[in-house]
Amino acid sequence: MISRIKRFFDTFLLAELVKGMSMTGRYFFARKITVQYPEERAPQSPRFRGLHAQRRYPNGEERCIACKLCEAVCPALAIQIESEQRADGTRRTTRYDIDLTKCIFCGFCEEACPVDAIVETRIYEYHGEKRGDLYYTKEMLLAVGDKHEAQIAQDKAADAPYR
Ligand code: SF4
Ligand code: SF4
Repeated sequence: MISRIKRFFDTFLLAELVKGMSMTGRYFFARKITVQYPEERAPQSPRFRGLHAQRRYPNGEERCIACKLCEAVCPALAIQIESEQRADGTRRTTRYDIDLTKCIFCGFCEEACPVDAIVETRIYEYHGEKRGDLYYTKEMLLAVGDKHEAQIAQDKAADAPYR
């Protein structure tokens, strides 16, 4: 009986509506946390794991020494490497491909690399319209690295004290 009376008064006084409006009012004046993308961007960590890049040394020499640790550690089997020895005795990749449709962006490849050659950048705005578009070759990865080296080096330096 009491519950029926309570329900009657709740209905009569629009209690649910008032409760809802009070919630709306509370958030109407609260600090806004919605980011108006793409005009506004959420902050990113120096460890952000976005699009991969291959890096070079300042003299233009590619860092990768074809040790294949990244290929071995990749849980998604996304990395394909072939290599050969150069005339000067150093080993370099002849093929370094990452299939980004397989990649789970775990960052293991970057962690495993002894020479900071393969890295994940802050770039997340890229897409493919067909499967092959997300198959990144060595040339594509080096091009990403060349373009964003300043930011990559800055992020590496910011993270260095924690390693
Ligand atoms: S981020 Fe992870 S899944 Fe992607 S290529 Fe590197 S090791 Fe493989
Ligand atoms: S990217 Fe790094 S871990 Fe992978 S093969 Fe090259 S040097 Fe080795």
